[in-house]
Amino acid sequence: MTLRIAEIFGPTIQGEGALIGEPTVFVRAGGCDYRCSWCDSMHAVDSQYRHSWAPMSSDAVWAQVRHLSGDRPLTVSLSGGNPAIQDFGPLIARGRAVGYRFACETQGSIARPWFGDLDTLVLSPEPTIKR
Ligand code: SF4
Repeated sequence: MTLRIAEIFGPTIQGEGALIGEPTVFVRAGGCDYRCSWCDSMHAVDSQYRHSWAPMSSDAVWAQVRHLSGDRPLTVSLSGGNPAIQDFGPLIARGRAVGYRFACETQGSIARPWFGDLDTLVLSPEPTIKR
């Protein structure tokens, strides 16, 4: 399973929401099923930026998270775009097995079985503007 990844960065301090103040590595997924005119992350949404999204295996994403975190378990936030359009289950299982915590930020259009393995699900509903 190949994931489309717009960027991976951190650790940095989460600046908003329920996890504010938490050291966090962000995994920003490429692609979204909505097209909101107010979106501030179009580089991770619109297919015109698809060439900049890295095709990565879960193993490769996990290796990058471990590298950035220095192998110290912290929170990994899956954002986008809409990360729910991809299968992050294997990455979550891998990280949770060694103490990492996972959050996912989504507008809620799609539910995935792996939501049940998250520590935190952040739902930010948007009006329905499908592509
Ligand atoms: S749902 Fe979120 S990420 Fe997707 S286009 Fe709308 S604001 Fe952007």
